[in-house]
Amino acid sequence: MIEVSNLRVALDAFSPGSDADAALCAAAARALRIAPDAISAVRLAKRSVDARKKADVHFVCTVVVALADEALEERLVAGGAKRHAAYAPLPIPDLSGRALAPPQDAPGVPGSRGAARPLVVGAGPAGLFAALYLARAGLRPLLVERGPAVEDRVRAVAAFERTGLLDEEANIQFGEGGAGTFSDGKLTTNTKNPYTAHVLRWFVEAGAPEEILWQAKPHVGTDRLVGVVRALREAIVEAGGSVRFETRLESLGFSDGALKTATLFDARSNAAQTVEAERVIIACGHSARDTFAMLRDAGVRLERKPFSVGVRIEHPQSMIDAAQYGRAAAHPALGAAEYKLAVHLESGRGVYTFCMCPGGEVVCAASERGGVVVNGMSRYARDGANANSALLVGVDPSDFPGDDALAGVEFQRAIERAAYRCAGQADGAPFAAPAQTVGDFLANAGGSPSKHVSPTYARGVVWCDLRECLPGFVADAIAEALPLLDRKLRGFADAQAVMTGVETRSSSPVRIVRDGRFQALFAEGRTSAAAGEGPRCEAGGRKEAGCGLYPCGEGAGYAGGIMSAAVDGLRAAEALAAELAETP
Ligand code: FAD
Repeated sequence: MIEVSNLRVALDAFSPGSDADAALCAAAARALRIAPDAISAVRLAKRSVDARKKADVHFVCTVVVALADEALEERLVAGGAKRHAAYAPLPIPDLSGRALAPPQDAPGVPGSRGAARPLVVGAGPAGLFAALYLARAGLRPLLVERGPAVEDRVRAVAAFERTGLLDEEANIQFGEGGAGTFSDGKLTTNTKNPYTAHVLRWFVEAGAPEEILWQAKPHVGTDRLVGVVRALREAIVEAGGSVRFETRLESLGFSDGALKTATLFDARSNAAQTVEAERVIIACGHSARDTFAMLRDAGVRLERKPFSVGVRIEHPQSMIDAAQYGRAAAHPALGAAEYKLAVHLESGRGVYTFCMCPGGEVVCAASERGGVVVNGMSRYARDGANANSALLVGVDPSDFPGDDALAGVEFQRAIERAAYRCAGQADGAPFAAPAQTVGDFLANAGGSPSKHVSPTYARGVVWCDLRECLPGFVADAIAEALPLLDRKLRGFADAQAVMTGVETRSSSPVRIVRDGRFQALFAEGRTSAAAGEGPRCEAGGRKEAGCGLYPCGEGAGYAGGIMSAAVDGLRAAEALAAELAETP
């Protein structure tokens, strides 16, 4: 098989009813200088849109071709053609001999033989992929998730959007599937990590559309993600793992530098249970503020890290399509257009768009009562009237007062509460969001409704001055950036575009520090060997093995998005399995 890249292919080749394979075959044959009928099979491996010249929008494709004549293939490779490297599945060791608990046992229940069974906390992408890896390694992990199963969670989110009554354990941040379940399901990542291929394959096995394997910017959409999340859970159980919903990790017990117990609170029975736990993967996401505080108080080393805050900006999708694709905007082979913009201000602040949702809607992503948080999602079809995107300003730990590792959390919370108050003042419904047009914001002219953009935020918006809830330096940076961003995407700073506040949870405000083996380190002064005083990785006991706590994913500060969180979950699970395999 030969891989041919950089093939220019007309949009029409992918119109409904067109024979895309024939067009790809012809383009590959031209590039290889062979007759099209020498190609016995063709497969699309990557496709992106080249819209740099609006009068010449086309696809750029990579294909894999099979030739009937092996000798011809060898000659082409000898002449410089690239031989295709077939996908090799992620190697997973068989450690089933190490998991001692019989299936009906709760893992690690004192007195049982289940101590080797690992615990995974959080069923977001990081936790789901970690648990699936461990299950496939024969380790029969227990996955605990504070929120409900995804089907119940969908109902909880719909009820919140209708009533404004927030369930703090079942919302857009918490519940099976994690933060990205109500999202655009973009599966893009900036990293060229070899694990991304495995994550995409595992997603397809779980029912995601196969096209995510060849799209340059794949996305699944919230409507399809729900089924994918359920299938991942079923795969974990089928491979020997167990999943408990509405079960929150409440505390961890360390002794002699090593993890010994975990206390789990079961919301259904309203009871806590302490279980043996020697190896715990913690994938709690960026909104588990109580869990961060518990870890800090247990002596785990947490650090402040930079993150971003800002607003969601909405435009008509037709305007974005026209700005990106020119006259080709309505072409049936092109979906709703995307954009990604950034500027660096003289003040040193970066302002950028993030998590753009074509044809999507703005959602309320709050997980605490009394605080408004917005984010965005799209369905698979991306066929809504508006495009939305986060418009964010970078913030740095030096922007927060004090020296607490969780100062960034307090910074977020203060802005979220200000937004709640700001929208509430004007008779807004519970969890209405403050909104302002770009024109009013730039003119410092209070809040009047947009004439062209109907906000999609389900709880309703209250038109007001966003400066009342944003920190001054954030509002100033957005105001300075808007005209600069408009130069990159015409119409971005259109006076009628709508900004809805506040977007504070784009990434984690903390990092849970870990070592090269993915295991947590401990705060200065918390390295004592005394039982119960926190992990001790410097001396004695489990020096070689580490302390047994594996922080991963976005909440731990090692990922930013579905793909990178899933990749980090896989890598943490791999590290845990390797450590277990080496332990006598
Ligand atoms: P999370 O997904 O946050 O999962 C953590 C899980 O842990 C949660 O389910 C939580 O309930 C659970 N948990 C927390 N504490 C405990 C505890 N103590 N005990 C038990 N369980 C606990 N990223 C993209 O790449 N593409 C997108 O299109 C995209 N859109 C998004 C849209 C929205 C509305 C949101 C909110 C986020 C979006 N993101 C998107 C970001 C993406 O969702 C996150 O980067 C990703 O989900 C992080 O994965 P994670 O597994 O690290 O954490």
